[in-house]
Order: sequence, then structure tokens, then C-alpha cells
Amino acid sequence: AKYVYDFTEGNKDLKDLLGGKGANLAEMTNLGLPVPPGFTITSAACRHYLAEGAPPDGLEREIGEHLSALEAAMGKRLGQADDPLLVSVRSGAKFSMPGMMETVLNIGLNDESVRGLAKQAGNERFAWDSYRRLIQMFGRTVQNIDGELFEHALDAIKGERQDTDLRADELQRLVETFKGIVREQTGSDFPADPREQMRLAITAVFDSWNAPRAVLYRRQERIPADLGTAVNICSMVFGNLGDDSGTGVAFTRDPGTGRQGVYGDYLQNAQGEDVVAGIRNTVPLQELEGIDKGSYDELLSIMETLENHYRDLCDIEFTIERGRLWMLQTRVGKRTAAAAFRIATQLVDQGLITLDEAVTRVSGDQLAQLMFPRFGKEGGRHRIAKGMNASPGAAVGKAVFTSERAVELAGQGEAVILVRRETNPDDLSGMIAAQGVLTSRGGKTSHAAVVARGMGKTCVCGAEELDVSISGRRFTAPGGIEVEEGEVISIDGSTGEVFLGEVPVVDSAVVEYFEGAEPDDELVRAVDRIMAHADAVRRLRVRANADNPEDAARARRFGAEGIGLCRTEHMFLGERRQLVEDLVLAASPQDRQAALDALEPLQRTDFIGIFRAMEGRPVTIRLIDPPLHEFLPDLVGLSVKAATGQATDKDRVLLAAVRRLHEQNPMLGLRGVRLGLVIPGLFAMQVRAIAEAAREVPGAQPEIMIPLVAAVQELEAVREEAARILAEVGVEALIGTMIETPRAALTAGQVAEAAQFFSFGTNDLTQMTWGFSRDDVEAAFFSRYLELGIFGVSPFETLDRDGVGRLLRLAAEEGRATRPGLKLGICGEHGGDPDSVHFCHDSGLDYVSCSPFRIPVARLEAGRAAL
Ligand code: PEP
Ligand code: MG
Repeated sequence: AKYVYDFTEGNKDLKDLLGGKGANLAEMTNLGLPVPPGFTITSAACRHYLAEGAPPDGLEREIGEHLSALEAAMGKRLGQADDPLLVSVRSGAKFSMPGMMETVLNIGLNDESVRGLAKQAGNERFAWDSYRRLIQMFGRTVQNIDGELFEHALDAIKGERQDTDLRADELQRLVETFKGIVREQTGSDFPADPREQMRLAITAVFDSWNAPRAVLYRRQERIPADLGTAVNICSMVFGNLGDDSGTGVAFTRDPGTGRQGVYGDYLQNAQGEDVVAGIRNTVPLQELEGIDKGSYDELLSIMETLENHYRDLCDIEFTIERGRLWMLQTRVGKRTAAAAFRIATQLVDQGLITLDEAVTRVSGDQLAQLMFPRFGKEGGRHRIAKGMNASPGAAVGKAVFTSERAVELAGQGEAVILVRRETNPDDLSGMIAAQGVLTSRGGKTSHAAVVARGMGKTCVCGAEELDVSISGRRFTAPGGIEVEEGEVISIDGSTGEVFLGEVPVVDSAVVEYFEGAEPDDELVRAVDRIMAHADAVRRLRVRANADNPEDAARARRFGAEGIGLCRTEHMFLGERRQLVEDLVLAASPQDRQAALDALEPLQRTDFIGIFRAMEGRPVTIRLIDPPLHEFLPDLVGLSVKAATGQATDKDRVLLAAVRRLHEQNPMLGLRGVRLGLVIPGLFAMQVRAIAEAAREVPGAQPEIMIPLVAAVQELEAVREEAARILAEVGVEALIGTMIETPRAALTAGQVAEAAQFFSFGTNDLTQMTWGFSRDDVEAAFFSRYLELGIFGVSPFETLDRDGVGRLLRLAAEEGRATRPGLKLGICGEHGGDPDSVHFCHDSGLDYVSCSPFRIPVARLEAGRAAL
């Protein structure tokens, strides 16, 4: 195997092997740009070293050969006493991990070559400054000596002066001090042999792949842990040779706004690490024009070359050595979400990329960021807790602890934040009334989280540091901070942070645009163009999860092409809950019929509203699927009443019924199709309401969906009756099923005999495949699981391709084997998750369905998946 590549041998597409830095140094070299000569040791060598504890055979020899070639080209040897070649040893992985791994500059200096360097440069001060930097960086990164020790020694000599004011003799003394520190801390002398310095530095860079901060960073950024890093050996150029030298960073465009121009910072008489360390104040890059016009002009022209070549925003590190410009690094630069959209369309207008490419240059996550109101950066913030970032956005309001109070205060025009230990369906009115929702328990698929995301409402859930007392109308935060009802708090649903007091909020123009406002600024016009193209290229349809006419109408404005999931149990919340309770607890067929008769017209009206809002597009209505406990009176409350002698006769009858129906595990209990089969007339009432509503609305396209099916027999039992009612009313509708139990997926070939469509309910399918309670586990232990790398992201957030995804594919395949052309969709929370949308595209689904606010994200990602 070849483990070492000269810069002239690589190119930008070899990032896997050469890392981002090495690949781009090679690319720039081959573009004829001024890159100091050097070579790259591959990440494969690093992987070998990390696995075996020793470098691969032959690596040492290859490095030696490349070093000799470099020495020949430069006309001097590494560390040569009278005229030393010096090199930098820099890490550089495939994905940029800023500052996470190690770099050592000025390798090759020792007590002799420092004098040679001084003579060659005609600059004593510079030579000793370079030497002290080597010992400092080498000591810290290779020998693991506490960096503070060097800093203190430097500060002691420097006093109030700048580092550039240190004289050569002072720096020489500092070198002696630094060598003393090394001796003291390691028990041996600073290694004087240049080859030895280089070898040790390379090993240290390899090792830094597994430094704790690098491990942590990779976990957060979801970078695979086994890639390893490449190592770049680059001949040194010096920015610290005097005022005609310096170092800087530059962007070809503003990474904050995307505007073209001159963006960057420059530091005279310095080496690269000084910029990062903030040792002296940099000047804006424009000022370089006055300092060194020749280098400035050359830099601008190189920036243009790079942009045209990479066809994207590039960031750059450069050094000027005595008026000569050198490129030390470039890469396609990170940018804000707003800049990403702007840059993509600007590049289209410049003729550098196509619209297809523009769509791939932005992401659904970036679009989502643009859709939520945000906290402005100004002003002090007093953070009091951090929970889970359940539904993004920024919300400010008075803390309230009950839904009634939320509704009451909101009715008076107050902004409120609903604070609960956890929410339940009864809190819906309060959640609607509130600006945001904060809970101290529950994960990202807890009730609060799912409902809030559906509403586009800011939510922080599972903030476990908070002790919420509903009865006391207050919560306590760490440090003894008490927040009473009516006190203002701010919650950031994008970060999970909770703040005391008001943090100022700014609105999203992008949402106003999706709501129908004219695209009247550059960002919104960019979003508009990219969305239009994504819509033109995508194959996947996008539907909405919506349960009422208002959500349906908003979903339409956001581009929904139908409703993929109308959860009918959500139509029974609020005051209608009583009607469902009456139904479930009905003691006689007459009581039951009375309860059904009361519900039917309400349902019919709801469906009419939804059909109208969707204007002839398909509407998938799921028959009722409530976990029973959500619709029964509270067992504990009734028991307490009975025990304390306060129960009425009616209470006692209720208590007996509730005891009878009480379930230890309601999510695995009497819900979905099971409920429909147990309570006669329930599903029939719903189907009739759907059919009659459809008859009222010309063009209505109802699809009836049966939940929680595990066996085709269940489906057959309800299907027949539904078909009969549809025929009676004279309305046509598809009858299909959710695939949300593993058994339904595994027997999809049979299930498809009785289903005209499948919709994957991946919330329950994930719950039942992993055996994770969707309401409990995220808060309980997911953070530990993420830490351990058992998964990189919650499977409730991004579809688990290997497990749940495998079931989905199997069901899709076997379902279509039975019934070619079987319509397939997904309606779990994953329908709005970018990675999951790509998986659904690849798996041949017909549509994804997600909450209204995720629809633009799903449209964009469906477009990207198709390209
Ligand atoms: C699902 O389980 O994925 C689903 C959409 O149904 P619900 O979330 O209502 O259980
Ligand atoms: Mg479900």
C-alpha cells in the first residue's frame, strides 16, 4: 500500500485518504497556486497505527523518501545546522474538526539550527521566537505538558508588552526556561534530533484522533469514529519575520449573509496559531491593501480562482512571508442557513452551478432553522435549565401551570408559557393558548413534544433539573431559583435552554412567505426558487398530519398534497372527551347508542371542514386510536374520593368501570383496531360520518385507515362493515391500514389482501421493534445511549434503517407482491425528518406525511433525494 502522497499527487476528491486539508492542498498545488511544498500521510496509516499500536511497515521508509525529495527541492535538509528546512506537522481528517486535533509548527529547530535560521533570515529575534514556539507547541501537544506552564513563563517575561516587543535575548532566555519546563515535566531533554521531532509529532497527531474532545466532537457531529486522520507535512513559511510578514484567514463570501466581498482578518508579524489564540487584535482583511498591496491583489485573485474552481464559498488560511503570499489551507466553508440559500442561488445566477445542484447545496435542517422565530443575540441571558430541544423556536411568556390558566391569561392578551411536569391530551387547549410548552418530564416523542411539533409550537421537554409544583403554581430551578406563576421566562426549542426573564425574539420571514406573503427579500426569493425546483424534481408526494380544518388549510399553504394522517381521537379532546368517556363506560346498548349518536354529527362537521380545506386532494382518516387511559376518568382521583367518603353513587359506578378497564400498559392495550372490535358501533359511526361528509363535499377523496392492525383477520373484520356503510351512503373510499406493529410488517403479504394502501406508523413501529416506550425512554436513558454511541440519534427522530427500516422495506416489498401498485406512505414523526425522507424515497414509498410545519422540509428533502 502507498501511505504517503506528495502534494502534487493528490486532488480534492481524495478526502477519504488525504483528509480535507491534504486533499485541498494538493488541489491548490495542481491549480498552480502558491502552496509550500509538502506531502500527506494517509488516514489509512493512522487507522493502522490506532488498530495495531504501531505504524504500518514501510511507512517510515516512505516518509524518508518523501522528505528527501522535499529536501532536494528546497535545497536544504530538515534541521540543517547552517540553513535548516523547517516543517509543520498538521492533522487533517476527512471532515473538518476545528481545533480538535493537533498541529506542531517549526519542526527542525534545535540549539544549532536556530543560529543557522537566524543567520539565513538575518533576524535573531525571529529565529528565537520560532524556537520558543516549537518547544511550547511540542511540549503541549506531543509531550502533554500543561500549556499554562509555558503561558505563565511567557507572561512573566512579557509583562505589559506585546509578544512582538520581546527582544531576541529575551526570547533566547525564554527558550532556556521552556527547555527547563520540559526537563522538569518529562524527566528528559527536549528532543534535539529533527527526525525524532517529526516522528514524535506524527504519532501525536495520530493519537489526537482519540483525544476526549475529538471523540466528543465526532459524537455531536455524527462523524464516524473509525476514519482516522491524515497528517500533512508542509515546509514552513514564516509570518513572523517582521512587519512585511503576517498571517490571516479569508472567506470568498460572507459566511453569515452570503454576500460577495472581502471578508477576513489579518495579523501582522505572526504565525497562524496567534490568530486563533487571539493573542493580539487582528485587523480587517481590507487593511491588508494598505499594508501590502501586491499580496492583497494576489489574494483576491486567488480567491476568485478558488470560488470558480470549487464553485462554492471557500475559506482560506494564508501567510505572507516578506511580501510573498502562501496558501496554507482552503476548503468549502461552513455557513449559516440563510447564507446557504443565498449562496446557492447566487451561484446559479453566476452560471457556476445548475438549479439541480443548488437544491443539493441546502438542507431541510437549514430550512427548518429559517422557519422558526429565534432569540436575538443581544442582551444578557440568564439560563436556569436545559432540557430537550423538542420543537424548535423561541418563546417568551409568563409561566402558567394549568391549561385553564393558560387559556384565561391568553384570552386577556397575555403571552404565556405552559409549564407542566408532563402534558396529556387535556392540556391541548392550554398548549394552543400558550406561546410555548415546557415540561420537566418526557422525551422527544412525549405528548408535549409531538403535539407541539405538530402545531409548530416551541417546546422544551424533559428539563429534569426543574422541580414543577402544579398545586404550588411554581417551579424551582437549580441554585434555589423559584419561578412563580406570572413570572416571565423564555424557552429556546432549538437548544432546549430555559431562561429567566425576557429574551428578545425576531420573526421568520420565511414562514410569512410560506403563509402566502410575497417573496420580497433576497433570502425569501432564494428559498422560493429552490423550493420550486425541489417540487419539480421530486418523486415523493408530501402530505400532512392534520386533524382540523385550520391545520389542513395551513398544510395546504405550506404545499401539502393531501392529508396522510387525520388522528380522529384528537377530535375528541376538550369538552368532547366526556362523550367518549360515556361511550367507553356505557352500561347498556342504549347508552352506547346515545353516546354514538351524540358524536356522529360532530365528526361529520369536522370532516366536511377538512375535505373543503383540501380541495379534492386525498384525506386519510384514521379511525380512533386512543390509549384508553387518555379517555377515562382518573383512577387515582376517584379512588381517593371513594376512600375519603366523598364519592357519589355515580362516582362509585364510574370507579368500578375504570378499575375494570384499567391497564398496566395502555400503549400495548385496548387501542386501535382492538377498540373498534370491542366497542360495537364505534368504527361504523366514524365510517358513516366520513361517508356522509364526503357526500357533502364535491370531489372529496376520503381514505379510511385502520390503526394498530397486527393480523389480516382484524382488518377483514372491520373492513367488511366499512365497505357496506360506504356502499349504503354511496361514496367511494380506499380502505387501508397502518403498518405499525412488527407482526403487520412481517405478514404484510397477507395484510395486503385486505388493504388498499399501507401507511407506516413508525412511531409505534419503532416503539414495538426496539421495545422502547415512546413516552418514557428518551428522558430516562437516551442521553446515556447517545454517549455510549449505541445510536447516533434517537430512533424516534430518525428512522432506524437497519431495524425498523428493514421491516418497512420487507412490508413494502411483500405488500406489493400481493397487490401490485399498493399505495405506500409513512405517517410517523419520521415523515418530516430529512434522513428518513431519503430512506422513504429509496424504499419506493409514494408519499411521506408530516406535521404542517415540516412540510417544506419534506418537500425540499424529497427533491434532494431525487437528485
Ligand atoms: C405512529 O404510530 O407512527 C402513528 C402515526 O400513530 P400515533 O403516533 O398516533 O400512534
Ligand atoms: Mg401509532
